Amino acid sequence: MKDNALHFALFGNPVGHSLSPLMHGAAFAGMGLRAQYSAFCVQDLALAAQGIRGMGLRGVSVTIPFKTAVMDLLDEIEETARMIGAVNTIRNDGGRLMGFNTDAAGLMKDLKEVTNLRGKRVVVLGAGGAARSAVFGLIREGALVHIVNRTAEKGERLAGEFGCTSSALSDKSQIGGDILINTTSVGMTPVVDASPLEPYFLKRFHWVVDIVYNPLKTKLLKDAEAAGCHIRNGIGMFVHQGAEQIRIWTGLTPPLELMQKVVMERLS
Ligand code: NAP
Repeated sequence: MKDNALHFALFGNPVGHSLSPLMHGAAFAGMGLRAQYSAFCVQDLALAAQGIRGMGLRGVSVTIPFKTAVMDLLDEIEETARMIGAVNTIRNDGGRLMGFNTDAAGLMKDLKEVTNLRGKRVVVLGAGGAARSAVFGLIREGALVHIVNRTAEKGERLAGEFGCTSSALSDKSQIGGDILINTTSVGMTPVVDASPLEPYFLKRFHWVVDIVYNPLKTKLLKDAEAAGCHIRNGIGMFVHQGAEQIRIWTGLTPPLELMQKVVMERLS
């Protein structure tokens, strides 16, 4: 790459199966940008963050397990990311590192393509990092959120932070509403025959959303389809959160359809 190229990276551990290099690479090529995006399996996050300045990277995507830890290493955290408590995007403004979160916006954009969220009763399965973004975004859109988590205390803590309700996954009495969103990793490749919820409970929902996108149709989504629900996988969220990263880094509009196409082709 010539000196005037823009350089981007993914920091995570592991990163081997990430589709971000494929998606961002296609987007930059489609935009005619001289840019390179590489994945790094990071061993020492503090040194890696320092390397953003040292190597003059323009932007970095941050994934598991660094989304929270990276916050202490940045110069400034944008308000949404601070409220969510996680950063998945870093922009390097001449050595000053600014943290953003595009997961919440990515999921909300995707959901709003198919349904209105205001006043909807939404059950969020899980209370990890992805759930934080989902709950934050949903509440901001005016949804009525109930968190259901395997470890009840973790669900209660998250519900307390965002002012919603919660229950344990073992107690099915409160599982019902307009939309169910799975934010757990259950059902993800390679354990594709697992589902976080028994098929019986799915008919209590109009929409069932799984933010997992590998496989494209998880067991949860297959069961939900069989139960007559509308279904949505995690591809749209993934593409939208990536597109938002490109907007933050470059100020330009990314080619959404192209990004979606290359990811779908790889997963199909
Ligand atoms: P995380 O912080 O590790 O949280 C995992 C959650 O899953 C926890 O609530 C955990 O419950 C629950 N869980 C794990 N195993 C379970 C099981 N066997 N039964 C019931 N619950 C279980 O992970 P994360 O960062 O939130 O990521 C979760 C998933 O979201 C991953 O598959 C990730 O790829 C996906 N994701 C997708 C996108 C996208 O763009 N589509 C973006 C971000 C994340 P406990 O609290 O009880 O442990």
